[in-house]
Amino acid sequence: MWKQGWREEVWSQLISEPWDLIIIGGGITGAGILREATRIGLRTLLLEGNDFASGTSSRSSKLVHGGLRYLRNRQIRITFESVRERERLLDQGRGLISKLSFLFPVYSDSKVPGWVFGLGLAFYDLLGFKWAHRHYRIHEVIERWPGIRQEGLTGGYRYFDAQTDDARLVLRVLLESVQEGGVALNYANVERLMRHSSGDVCGVIVRDCDPSSEGRTTEVTAPVVINATGAWADDLRMNVRARRRLRRLRGSHLVLPIDKVPISRAITFYHPQNRRPVFIFPWEGTVIVGTTDVDHELDMQAEPSINHSEVEYLLETVHFAFPSLNISTNDLISTYAGVRAVIDTGKADPSRESREHVIWLENGLLTITGGKLTTFRVMAHDALRAIQHRLPSHARLDRKKRVLAKPSSKTAFDVELDISTRRRILGRYGEAAPALIAASRREELRPIENTPFLWAEIRWGAQAEGVIHLDDLLMRRMRLGIISPEGGTGLLDQIREIAQPELGWNDTRWEEEAEAYRKLWLSAYAP
Ligand code: FAD
Repeated sequence: MWKQGWREEVWSQLISEPWDLIIIGGGITGAGILREATRIGLRTLLLEGNDFASGTSSRSSKLVHGGLRYLRNRQIRITFESVRERERLLDQGRGLISKLSFLFPVYSDSKVPGWVFGLGLAFYDLLGFKWAHRHYRIHEVIERWPGIRQEGLTGGYRYFDAQTDDARLVLRVLLESVQEGGVALNYANVERLMRHSSGDVCGVIVRDCDPSSEGRTTEVTAPVVINATGAWADDLRMNVRARRRLRRLRGSHLVLPIDKVPISRAITFYHPQNRRPVFIFPWEGTVIVGTTDVDHELDMQAEPSINHSEVEYLLETVHFAFPSLNISTNDLISTYAGVRAVIDTGKADPSRESREHVIWLENGLLTITGGKLTTFRVMAHDALRAIQHRLPSHARLDRKKRVLAKPSSKTAFDVELDISTRRRILGRYGEAAPALIAASRREELRPIENTPFLWAEIRWGAQAEGVIHLDDLLMRRMRLGIISPEGGTGLLDQIREIAQPELGWNDTRWEEEAEAYRKLWLSAYAP
């Protein structure tokens, strides 16, 4: 798909193609718009300044959820939309999106009585047209969540949401768009917007950030430009002299080994310090604890990372729920942080700011930001509807189309893999799954150490998924950077054997990349 030489091909297309639409930003928002725009016949180009999904879309809590917290803030519309999208994604994204059971434990000193929570869950279920929550007695809670705080425990409620691999979701949406004729380029930074004499935006100046390109730039024009740059959206809006309206909030997570916190289901509760909802859940053979919600005033060019007080806050989360486990910083595998954009209304408590997405049309530049990973399809439709009057008349949105392609006979492959691995590969790679299997050596169809990832995914990622730097492969095509001890640096020799020839890097380039990866991991992901 994005095999060696693909960037040259795309770069030469940039100037020659008559684009209908340019999307800036290759996170889930941009990917979703590319998907919908391509399927309605628009010649669409997506430009991502760094790697695909390298922004917030690989740093989320990885939940595909209705968002009970939004219900608590009486944001009914966003909850309703999210629940419906969760159901749609569960239905269409098997192997990439999976159901996750949550427990909300109830204690005798809870400020909100348990039945209120039960009522909220009934409403939550109704929004999704299903009845899945239930009450657990004390012994049922203890049986299912061993080690849980028992003092004052009076029972609990179970409900369902879902989880995913956020970066792989972005990649699947992007790759399906590209298969249908969309064009997406990573490491293509939009330096500036071009404007007509009338003041309206009519294109972009883009710089190639691939190290082998020597920083070439070019102008690309289109009647419509969409700013889907998430937490960076205000920076681009400065080009049309718009005033800053966004507040950047950082959310951080801890990643722990599952043998230290042996749970197979999620748990959520209010943090004892500030009563914000927090959660602990299993993900890809590890356990994730999240999240914080603090103002992020640091340089947006640098990788966001957790700070000391956030680590303390999240460790307190684990101590509160599982006091006997005595988890400390020594137990952590990694940490990661992401930054979201919300409209700045100046609320003292950042968690009170609305998470709904916003759309602004300013001098021909359409900005869409905020919202959620879960609702990317809804956001894409809203964005395209807002600029419908500037699009060719043949471009008609169809809300009934699938969000992820249906597996077809083309996705079948004939090797011995257990059912869950087979489902994983199909879910993560969609139509490309048979090609991944065909490209692999027999011995690569086994898991990498204790992770659910296969060695074959290293080869495929390096060969066909647009990897420019080593962290693209280890942080986003695969998630070894967050789930493996030391970010998987102990495996670099084995990874090199497979990846270096596929990437076409000489020894010097490999060593530089490996060194840069170690530094990145230590600065932004190390416990
Ligand atoms: P991003 O993913 O940040 O993408 C924007 C992209 O624009 C970046 O890749 C950036 O490199 C690129 N860019 C910036 N400037 C330029 C430029 N000049 N030229 C080219 N490219 C540029 N939602 C859920 O549904 N479930 C969750 O569990 C969940 N958890 C979350 C946890 C945290 C801590 C946070 C912060 C958010 C969470 N969200 C969750 C929300 C969700 O992650 C975000 O809404 C979503 O990822 C935002 O996607 P995006 O594409 O708008 O932004």
